[in-house]
Amino acid sequence: MSKSQKDIRCSFCGAGKQDSLMLIAGLDAHICDKCVQQANEILGEELNLKKGKNVNSVLTLLKPLEIKNHLDQYVIGQDEAKKVLAVAVYNHYKRLNQKIAKDEIEIEKSNIMMVGETGTGKTLLAKTIAKILNVPFCICDATVLTEAGYVGEDVESILTRLLQAADYDVNAAERGIVYIDEVDKVARKSDNPSITRDVSGEGVQQALLKILEGTIVNVPPQGGRKHPDQKMIPVNTNNILFICGGAFDGIEKKIANRLRTQTVGYKVKTDEVEVDLKNLYKYITPLDLKSFGMIPELIGRVPVITHLNPLDRDTLLNILTEPKNSLIKQYQKLFEYEEINLEFSKEVLEFIVDKAMEFKLGARGLRSICEAIMIDAMFEIPSQKQKSKKMVIDLEYAREQFEKSDLKKLKVA
Ligand code: ADP
Repeated sequence: MSKSQKDIRCSFCGAGKQDSLMLIAGLDAHICDKCVQQANEILGEELNLKKGKNVNSVLTLLKPLEIKNHLDQYVIGQDEAKKVLAVAVYNHYKRLNQKIAKDEIEIEKSNIMMVGETGTGKTLLAKTIAKILNVPFCICDATVLTEAGYVGEDVESILTRLLQAADYDVNAAERGIVYIDEVDKVARKSDNPSITRDVSGEGVQQALLKILEGTIVNVPPQGGRKHPDQKMIPVNTNNILFICGGAFDGIEKKIANRLRTQTVGYKVKTDEVEVDLKNLYKYITPLDLKSFGMIPELIGRVPVITHLNPLDRDTLLNILTEPKNSLIKQYQKLFEYEEINLEFSKEVLEFIVDKAMEFKLGARGLRSICEAIMIDAMFEIPSQKQKSKKMVIDLEYAREQFEKSDLKKLKVA
């Protein structure tokens, strides 16, 4: 005997048809929209919890060598930085596990400073490492930060972003990784105390210091200005790994000064030690960061300093073709959707690299040059009635396309 429409009720909460938006029928039962929603939330929470548990197991599984091998698939060269990062991240999570074991020797936190010219892969390294560790990760730009109360973002906004990346799961966020880009832009403006406050330089460094040290910060969940009514979320930064990156333009001179050499010529011998003047970054020490305008307390909180090498021609060529999602592979994939086999001649790859070297934009220049060369083909081919199965980009075509583009005006004199 079938129930009349009126008698149908949710088998979970007992709500009738009139009390709910919708009743979904199963074999022998019904469920209302509210119960579906609630069940969904419970499921979500359970899955999140499981994910949180996984975080630990994944973290302990990855050894430094494995982390580096993984980085190798996406980032070309920069072996030194990869090694330092892999070890620092591994130790960091060892430290997290140690807390659980309540050991007596406390391993100190190992925040990292990466110094290297723009476009050499600092952000890429941080992003790639976060991906394999499966922890919440966010990138913040130090240039927008100002001391609390001034126009710009408060330093706490960094943690707002991390919370958002962790879907507001505070536990997960508290073991996350934050990459603070362009940290060199908050260097003290000058050595002399000025009459006006240095709200975007030293003031921010002082505020950053607090967060990096490990403390409980009240974070506005939606970011923005602090509002008396906004409910703050307390976040403990003790176990958050901070990776700072910056180009520190001009720091070479300070390093050279310290090494008592001059930045002309190729190689100079000081006290019998050969100094590679083309890559002074590799001699960077905390002292140089201090003379650049970082406050010693902050430098002390970022004990691991590593450098990225400037990208030479060969490295750029590799970046174009080697990484798992290299630019060339990406274009080939795009054309694969049109059922076209795309090839670039070797001269074209060299042409792209030469132009990128001219622009002095590191690997960043590669993408815009490729776009300039490929834009017409990408525009026209999808609507072509008779497509050929293969397309080879040769030097003549590449040059012609590049000359047509606005890019060539960018050329650095
Ligand atoms: P940075 O943060 O040092 O200014 P990015 O990491 O943002 O530079 O690099 C910009 C882009 O250049 C990356 O998205 C990546 O495509 C490419 N790139 C830079 N360096 C490398 C590298 N060593 N290996 C592979 N790709 C790189």
